[in-house]
Parts: sequence; C-alpha cells; structure tokens
Amino acid sequence: MIGRMSQAPSTRFDSLPLAPATLENLQKLGYLEMTAIQAASLPAALLGKDVIAQAKTGSGKTAAFALTLLANLNARRFAVQALVLCPTRELAEQVATEVRRLARAEDNVKVVTLMGGVPLRGQAASLEHGAHIVVGTPGRVMDHLDRGNLKLDALSTLVLDEADRMLDMGFADDIAKVARQCPTQRQTLLFSATYPEGIAKLAAQFMRSPITVKVEAQH
Ligand code: ADP
Ligand code: MG
Repeated sequence: MIGRMSQAPSTRFDSLPLAPATLENLQKLGYLEMTAIQAASLPAALLGKDVIAQAKTGSGKTAAFALTLLANLNARRFAVQALVLCPTRELAEQVATEVRRLARAEDNVKVVTLMGGVPLRGQAASLEHGAHIVVGTPGRVMDHLDRGNLKLDALSTLVLDEADRMLDMGFADDIAKVARQCPTQRQTLLFSATYPEGIAKLAAQFMRSPITVKVEAQH
C-alpha cells in the first residue's frame, strides 16, 4: 500500500501560540515543521516554564529558545530582556545570526554580541545604543556587568546554551555570577547536547521546577 504518514498536528509551528507575523517569517525561512526538540520543548517554554532540553548538535535547539525569548520580548521597551550565554565566540555569533533571522517578524529588535577577543569599547557602545537581546560568552558578559555597561534588571529570559560545554570550559562560576544578577522572576532555559551531573547541579541552582525534555539521537 502506498501512503504517507500524515504529520502529527503537534509538529506544526501554527499549533503554537505564536504571533501571525512570526509564523509567516518561519514559513519564509523554510521552517515548515518543528524539529523533534522544538516540538518537545516549545509548548512548555511558551507557557513560561523553565525547560532543560537535551538533544544532539544540529537538532534546532537555537530556534527553540529564540522563539521563546522573542515571545517574552517587548520591543518597545528599550532594555535588555534576554541573555543567551554560549561557550565560544563562534557559537555566540551563530546564535545571534539565528536570533536575528527569527526576530525579523518584529520591528527593530536589537541583538548585541559580547564575546572575548573583541575590544570592550565597541561592545559597550552597542549596549549604550540599546539592546533587547544579548548573546555572549560568560566571561565577557561578566566583564560588562562589572563595568556597569550591562544591566539585567529588566531581563525576562535567561538561556544557557551548550551548557555542557560551558561547564567543560570552566564557566560555572561566571554563569553563577551572571545568574545572580538576573531578576528571580524570569524564565530560564538550558540547552545541552549531553546531560552530565554538573548540569543537574546548575539547574538546581538557577531554575524553578524545570521541565526536562530529551530527544534521543535518530538512527
Ligand atoms: P543545534 O543548536 O541543536 O545544534 P541549530 O539550532 O544550530 O541546532 O539548528 C541547526 C540547523 O537547522 C540550522 O541551520 C537551522 O537554521 C535549522 N533549523 C532549525 N529549526 C528548523 C526547522 N524547524 N525547520 C528547518 N530547519 C530548521
Ligand atoms: Mg546550538
């Protein structure tokens, strides 16, 4: 018998409480169906729940947290409302690119990257100019917090991306310091390819009754 399995309704982006402009933008980007980790995490994340999401590299984790932080964002409010911590400069750049693509549906969402190896001054100027979303590495983000260039009192979403790699690279203390400067009333999302013991510790420190979703590697 020839036939196609029809897709479960829950893999469609339009099953989510997303703005029509966001859905239209996703379609333009060629994002027709949610990936498995998106389908597993977005319904809870868009309800404002803290989520720990584990899935392998290339599974679409960026859009899962980007759509959530964008849903939480008020672009008319000129303050940093989302912070994404990434382990490396390259990853921070990739994440910022994806967040900007997904933010196109909204007017004038400003994404600023803060990572080492780039002069502090230009980054400070970008922050002063106004940022809604900051994507950066923990050390450099901490640096700007210490200097008073970055304020997190209006933050609504904190994302720890590639949390396992950040722990491997010794960023646990910096992450802790940054998290302590975020409002307690916030949504925290943690994404990781693996789930070592350190991740559970990190989650216990910074997250409120997190929901854990895991997508096993497909063969
Ligand atoms: P991860 O962070 O899990 O390693 P990424 O977020 O970098 O994965 O996504 C991998 C690739 O998949 C990117 O090129 C991204 O644009 C693309 N992608 C993500 N979600 C979708 C989707 N729903 N449909 C099509 N492509 C997607
Ligand atoms: Mg990623």
